[in-house]
Amino acid sequence: MTAHDAAGRRPAEGGSPGIVTGRQARPVVVASANGNQFRNGGPLTCVEQAFALLAGGADPLDAVIAGVNIVELDPGDSSVGYGGLPNADGVVQLDASCMHGPRRRAAGVVALEGVRTPSLVARALLERTNHRMLAGAGAQAFARAIGFPIEDDLNSPRSRGLWLEWKRRMAAIETADPIARMEAGYRVGQQMLVEGLIDVNHYYGTINCSAVNARGEICGVTTTSGLAWKIPGRVGDSPVLGAGLYVDGEVGAAGSTGHGESNLYALSSFLIVEEMRRGAHPKDAGLEALRRVRANTVDPALLDAQGRPAFNVKYYIVNARGEHAGVAMYGGPQVNYAVCTGHGAETRPCEALFDEELTLTAAP
Ligand code: ASP
Repeated sequence: MTAHDAAGRRPAEGGSPGIVTGRQARPVVVASANGNQFRNGGPLTCVEQAFALLAGGADPLDAVIAGVNIVELDPGDSSVGYGGLPNADGVVQLDASCMHGPRRRAAGVVALEGVRTPSLVARALLERTNHRMLAGAGAQAFARAIGFPIEDDLNSPRSRGLWLEWKRRMAAIETADPIARMEAGYRVGQQMLVEGLIDVNHYYGTINCSAVNARGEICGVTTTSGLAWKIPGRVGDSPVLGAGLYVDGEVGAAGSTGHGESNLYALSSFLIVEEMRRGAHPKDAGLEALRRVRANTVDPALLDAQGRPAFNVKYYIVNARGEHAGVAMYGGPQVNYAVCTGHGAETRPCEALFDEELTLTAAP
């Protein structure tokens, strides 16, 4: 019996329908909203695929990775895997991490080029080595050596087209200074968002997916192409254990999408799991992380006119009992999370620290 179970809290809102086990766990898969959107031409979304495997007795890590593979491979999601929006040089650089609660194993890959499914490379690192992180050319060499095909270019026609448009607009900006160019790059990207050329969920976008099976075993994965048109080599929170993903096999899992830099500072996923260890419901644990991010955001360049964070960040959270939540700094109709239980898949609104929608004006 874990400390968390011993708290004896009632099944709260967001709980999934029960298959009662020795540990009182309810099988559930929780993901970012794109986990119940993209199918890559197949019949199932990420959360449906993961839940089907979970219900069939698969290892929860195998289940969630099979789920996110659908989104990594679907060119329709330009925030993940193949067809992800590239860096400033037009190169798709991918980050991913995964954690296996019962086995206490974890791994991440960083700035990996040429492999459509970085989550599978992270899992191979987790399974086959005692290393926790591989980066860049080393990660690619590892992937090649264990049999992953390496492709020259992971752009889809759409991701390349959007990058060419961004480059065209950047050509008018006359500065060689890398900081000034980075700031101008953000402004140009924001303008493309405001014009509707890119969906906000794809400029900042990622997929996180976690699962709890009937034995209460918990695993999670996060995979992304990172921030659109980032400085080559920029790494966000997704592959960093504790930032974009954290799983404790006795307590629960948390993962994130959105402004990665704030999660790197706050180690938000770790913070959320530790809040749950102290007895917090997933929703309250997530809101606490949002308050921490808000308190840490003091740079004027990252604040809106009311002094609030000028970015969104979202957390997807599940505890060992199968209770779950999606929370976000800002709300609105597009700010959702995905869940799948024995009753099927659903897209639900995230609980927001600020109910209104994020206003796209500043340049994080
Ligand atoms: N968190 C990811 C990153 O910072 C991007 C995102 O989810 O928007 O790389």
